[in-house]
Amino acid sequence: MGFTENFSLFGLNTFKVNVQAKYFSEFESEDQLKALLSITHTKKLPVLILGSGSNVLFTKNFEGFVLLNKLKGIEIINEDKDSIRLKCYSGELWDDIVNYTAKNNWGGIENLSLIPGTAGAAPIQNIGAYGVELSNVLVSLEAIEITTGKTKTFSNRACLFGYRDSIFKNEFKNQYVITSIVLQLKKNPKVNIQYATLKNYFSGENNISISQVREKVIKERKSKLPDPEKLGNAGSFFKNPVLSKEKTEYLLEKFGEIPIFETKRNQFKVSAGWLIEKCGFKGIQRGDVGIYRDHALVLVNYGGESGPAIMDLANEIMATVKNKFEIELIPEVNIL
Ligand code: NAP
Repeated sequence: MGFTENFSLFGLNTFKVNVQAKYFSEFESEDQLKALLSITHTKKLPVLILGSGSNVLFTKNFEGFVLLNKLKGIEIINEDKDSIRLKCYSGELWDDIVNYTAKNNWGGIENLSLIPGTAGAAPIQNIGAYGVELSNVLVSLEAIEITTGKTKTFSNRACLFGYRDSIFKNEFKNQYVITSIVLQLKKNPKVNIQYATLKNYFSGENNISISQVREKVIKERKSKLPDPEKLGNAGSFFKNPVLSKEKTEYLLEKFGEIPIFETKRNQFKVSAGWLIEKCGFKGIQRGDVGIYRDHALVLVNYGGESGPAIMDLANEIMATVKNKFEIELIPEVNIL
């Protein structure tokens, strides 16, 4: 086992950007991962763990080590009459896990159906959709420290989860490889249909099953989001900004109809998609890049393979939104 030099990452990122990794390898076990990490220690170059490459934008060649995660497996580690605990290895596709749990009618992650990416990537940005976040069901995770090769367990609390945020995007950014996650799901689940799309669809219905919610979420996402197999993209490019009460009041006074939701006491989330749409970007195309016609948060690559062109458009969007609304958009996608 070793590294391949100057390896093309074209097929390994959903934006379909054609860049190269200086050194590339993949791992199927924790021992293989540790052996590879010990090689990376000999050179002072960055290490990038790649899952399904669905939340990354390469703007240039990666001058370091890219390690492709192929750690697979889902195990039941504990269960009682009300709940079940699953250990999921980090190279499993997230949606394969959701599919497996929905088939068993174990509730908790059905609203997170069809989110691209691996189980290991999910805690890094605390994936969320339709009123559910990974942090609602994650008990703990195991990770290997890149510089020492040591395994560490992080409790839910230790992950410092926030809105699309965790310790792995901040203090411990690029310092750990998450190898597995433990989820706790409910055996007699109550569905969460607080978001308008789900609430309206299921209105008046009783006994809604986990699979029904999963199917509806899949249908919604498919109707609004481009399939990365057909059109290069990485889902939502920006996070929804979280604003203070004062800022929210100012915006409501100035613009009236802005979609705003209270996340915590005195913290308000504003729809980034709405801000971008109001700046006139929805559906535009600039050369080979653009904004998807059905979703203003999704930047798309029409085939130019150019990371810098996508980043130029993202910068233009950020500057225009800042100018019009005095709000800083923050990318959700990892830009390299
Ligand atoms: P939507 O339903 O049109 O709503 C627009 C935004 O308003 C969403 O981003 C959502 O925030 C927020 N929102 C709507 N109803 C809300 C409520 N009852 N309480 C609090 N916030 C509310 O959104 P959409 O674009 O079709 O997306 C639907 C869901 O899928 C959202 O949760 C979204 O985050 C998720 N999604 C994720 C990605 C991704 O790549 N990460 C891509 C597309 C959609 P939140 O985003 O905080 O939920």
